[in-house]
Amino acid sequence: PLHLIWFRNDLRLNDNPALFNAAKAGSVVGVFFICEKQWQEHNDSPAKLGLIADRLREFSKELKQKNIPLKIIAVDYFTEIPGKLTQFCKKHAIHDLWFNNEYPLNEKKRDDQTEQELKKISVTSHRFNGDVILPPGSVLNNSGSMFQVFTPFSNAWRLRANPEILTAFKPPRKQSELAIESDEIPQFGGEYRTDLWQVTTKSIHSRLHKFVERSEQSYKELRDFPAINATSTLSPYLTIGAVGIRECIQVLIETNSDEAFHRQWLTELIWREFYRHLIATNPRLSQGLCFKPVADNLQWQVNQSNFQRWCDGKTGFPIVDAGMRQLKQTGWMHNRVRMITAAFLTKLLRIDWRLGEAHFMQHLMDGDFASNNGGWQWSASVGADSVPYFRIFNPYRQAEKFDPQGNYVRKFVPELSSINDKKIHQPSTLSCETLGYPNPMIDYASERKKTLEIWSEFLNTA
Ligand code: FAD
Repeated sequence: PLHLIWFRNDLRLNDNPALFNAAKAGSVVGVFFICEKQWQEHNDSPAKLGLIADRLREFSKELKQKNIPLKIIAVDYFTEIPGKLTQFCKKHAIHDLWFNNEYPLNEKKRDDQTEQELKKISVTSHRFNGDVILPPGSVLNNSGSMFQVFTPFSNAWRLRANPEILTAFKPPRKQSELAIESDEIPQFGGEYRTDLWQVTTKSIHSRLHKFVERSEQSYKELRDFPAINATSTLSPYLTIGAVGIRECIQVLIETNSDEAFHRQWLTELIWREFYRHLIATNPRLSQGLCFKPVADNLQWQVNQSNFQRWCDGKTGFPIVDAGMRQLKQTGWMHNRVRMITAAFLTKLLRIDWRLGEAHFMQHLMDGDFASNNGGWQWSASVGADSVPYFRIFNPYRQAEKFDPQGNYVRKFVPELSSINDKKIHQPSTLSCETLGYPNPMIDYASERKKTLEIWSEFLNTA
């Protein structure tokens, strides 16, 4: 009998537990749903969707080499999928559906509904956790609940992650040819920097290997410096599942023996898992609510023109503007600068973190609900284990510390390229006027003071 594998954010042959197990069970056909309206509602960026379309084209070729046909079905919303899958299974006499779980609420509902609908026509769903090493709900504290703080989660995670769990699943074997043709992949999504983001498995694996080989000393020391290419830039591929999390860890273990680097990079990957476990166990997070319920009553400033200046990279704070322009131009932003720009919006402009969250999603190639929501709630001090409200990033000090020569600012804010290293992060009013760069839109010290007052009053009365 024929088995159906439903691909979503797992566009890879290697380290794909649903595909691995389906192929062991029998002959396999794949399906992928294009859901443009749903994606739009989820704020998925045109660039990320363009990357998915191109990756899908490449992936379809890879599947073909294994004689696995890939069918494409277009719908508007997730709610149409159970019906379409029912028709598909009936047409091809399929009794088993295989897929890897996704954890945000709409995705979970879609998968549960599909499972129930298909049960009615005697199709069994086989679900796997291909996007994480340890499934949500399996790393719990002593009272059997999800951790609310990262470090104990990470310690518990490390204790449970044994070599067997960390081993990547092998790609499927070549199967006998089926009488089903693969579909052409239609154009969807928008443009992105194809010079920066390639989609072949070879190029993605080479990015992973090169990063792991060269990062022995440099990652821990340099990962916070946005002008230096010291991080893996694998996030878009992890987000769309073009590379697997176990693959990353396996390459890390096999290729590099530096203890400090191992620990640090693994910690970042565990942050990713932490946020996935949080959204899987707390539906509030998928409903636009704060992890800390009290924070739902915070009053945010409504100021469209300030928000727009932030989005456009015209705040007059060079490091913030560089980050916001990097996001628009490349679809990616360095982690340190994500923290700086998010803190600027939520702690100095006091604008609702949800607006920032949506703007990031609309532009990021790696836009990922769990990590983005986690990063924003962390920055706004409303999330699990988030930065305390009184720790307000000073954009000038952050810039001097992490972009000491101003090279990052110079790259993305070319108006300031002639200014020397010392002054570039805080150019004089006269230089700004001469160079056509805006003066700071706010006074840092007085806004910081106001925010501290507002928060402490809020917490006293909450
Ligand atoms: P590396 O340093 O090489 O890390 C390896 C991988 O670990 C990353 O690819 C990513 O999958 C994971 N990772 C690293 N740091 C984090 C983190 N803090 N939280 C969760 N996972 C992490 N990451 C996304 O993948 N998608 C997002 O939409 C996203 N939005 C963010 C929004 C804000 C406000 C903040 C502060 C952070 C956000 N991050 C997001 C996390 C982080 O900035 C990126 O994962 C990282 O910059 C990607 O670069 P890299 O692949 O070179 O990371």
